[in-house]
Amino acid sequence: MSATTELKLTQNSYYAASANEQPDYPALNGDVEADVCVVGGGFAGLSAAIELADRGYKVVVLEARHIGWGASGRNGGQLIAGLACEQDVIENALGLDAAKQVWGMTLEALDLVRARVKRFAIQCDLTDGFLGVAVNENKAAKLHQWLDGMVQRYQYDAQWIPPKDIGQWIASPRYHSGYFDKSGGHLHPLNYCLGLAKGAASLGVRIFQHSAVMAMQQGETVTLHSEAGLVKARFVVLAGNMYLPEVSPKLAPLLAKRIMPVGTYIIGTEPITPTLAAKLIPNNSAVCDTNFILDYFRFSADKRMIYGGRVSYSALTPPNLTASMQARMVETFPQLKNTKVEYTWGGFVDITMNRAPDFGRVAPNVYYLQGFSGHGVALTGLAGKLVAEAISGQAERLDLMAKIPHHNFPGGKLLRTPALVLGMAWYTLRDALA
Ligand SMILES: Cc1cc2nc3c(=O)[nH]c(=O)nc-3n(C[C@H](O)[C@H](O)[C@H](O)COP(=O)(O)OP(=O)(O)OC[C@H]3O[C@@H](n4cnc5c(N)ncnc54)[C@H](O)[C@@H]3O)c2cc1C
Repeated sequence: MSATTELKLTQNSYYAASANEQPDYPALNGDVEADVCVVGGGFAGLSAAIELADRGYKVVVLEARHIGWGASGRNGGQLIAGLACEQDVIENALGLDAAKQVWGMTLEALDLVRARVKRFAIQCDLTDGFLGVAVNENKAAKLHQWLDGMVQRYQYDAQWIPPKDIGQWIASPRYHSGYFDKSGGHLHPLNYCLGLAKGAASLGVRIFQHSAVMAMQQGETVTLHSEAGLVKARFVVLAGNMYLPEVSPKLAPLLAKRIMPVGTYIIGTEPITPTLAAKLIPNNSAVCDTNFILDYFRFSADKRMIYGGRVSYSALTPPNLTASMQARMVETFPQLKNTKVEYTWGGFVDITMNRAPDFGRVAPNVYYLQGFSGHGVALTGLAGKLVAEAISGQAERLDLMAKIPHHNFPGGKLLRTPALVLGMAWYTLRDALA
C-alpha cells in the first residue's frame, strides 16, 4: 500500500484527538463466508452494512486501515441538502420529475443521519442548521436566483437572508448575503463514523480492519482476497472512495478513471469562549460560501473553529498550509486574529467530471458507490440504503442514480492531474474576478 502525504497530515486531526472509544476490530485471518462483503469502512460502506443487516443479510466489512480512516473521519462534518452539482445537471440527464426524486433523496439522506444518531445513540455533537453565504453582490445575485428557482421548482424550504440581515447570522465582513436551511447541520464526523460501525456490529455485521482487499475473483460467488484471508460472498459493495485504486489498482480499474482525487484541508483552533462563538455564528450553523473553491467552517462542541478550505489538485500538500489557512480564517473572522491553531489536517475528495455521484454495478452482483465530490457526509448514508434496496430486489432508486452519465477524466494517470491543475487555475481566477 503506498504511503501518501495526507497520512502525515491526518495525524494532527482534531477528530482523531477527540475520538470516542471504539472496539479494536480484528484483521481478517482465514476464510469467511457472507451474503454480502462490503469493501471500505467509511460512511458509505457502513451505511450499506447497516441497511443490509436490517434486511437479514449476513454482512462482512473489510477495511484496509481502520474505521473512519478515509474521508469519513476527516471531513468538515457539514450536512448539506442536494448534490455537489447543480440540479440542472440532473434535470438535463434525467428530466425534471426524476431530478425532483433525486433532490428528495438528498433530503431523505439528512433525515437518515438524524435517525441513525438517535437509533444507535451516537455521541457526535449533531447540531442543526446550515448557512450558505455569498462573498459579493454578483455572487449574491446568482445565489438568490438559484434559491428562488429551488423554492419554486423543488419547494426547497430555505430562507433568503438579505444584506441588511446577514450580520445577525454571521459576524464577518466577508459576506454579503446568504440563505439558511434548517434541514442542514453539522457533526463530529469521525465519532459519527465510529458510531455507525458500533451500530453495524450490534446488528451482527462482522468488521475487519487492516484487511485490504487486494484481488477479487468474480462469478456467482465472488471471492475477495486480503493478505491473510478471503471472503466468499454472493454480493459485493465497493465503497473504497478514491483509495480503492490506491490500495489495489486492479480491483476495479474502470471506476478509477471516473474520479479524481482533490485534496482539501482543515484547521482547528484552540477553544474560544462560548460568548465569542455565539457572537461569530449566533445560531451555531455550519457555514459554506458559494465560491468554486470554497471555504467551509463551523464550531466544534468545545468551541474550536473548524475551518476548511484550500484545495490541491496535484495530490501534494500545499506549502505553508497552516499559515495560509489561518490567514483565510482571519480574513473571515478578524476577531480570531490571536486565536491559536492547534490542528491541521486534510484528505482527498473523489470528484467526478460533472460533480454528480457515481453509483452502479461493475457486474450483476458487484455494486459500487463513489464520486460524492465533497458532498458525502449525508449522501453516503442514502447511497448505502440504495445499494441494500437493490440487493434485496428493489433496484429502482439505485438504477435511477446509475442513469446519470459519467465520463472518464481525460489523460492517463500522469496527464490528467496537470490538466486539472490548469482547469482549476481558471476557476480560482474566476472566483477572484467575480
Ligand atoms: C477534508 C474533507 C472535507 C470534507 N467536508 C465535507 C463536508 O463538510 N460535507 C460533506 O458532505 N462532505 C465532505 N467531504 C466529503 C465526505 O467526507 C465524503 O464524501 C465521504 O466521507 C465519503 O465516504 P466513503 O465511505 O465513500 O469514503 P471513505 O470515508 O474515504 O471510506 C473509504 C474507505 O475504504 C477503504 N478502502 C479503500 N480501498 C480498500 C480496499 N481495497 N480494501 C479495504 N478497504 C479499502 C479506505 O481505507 C477508506 O477507509 C469532505 C472530504 C474531505 C476529505
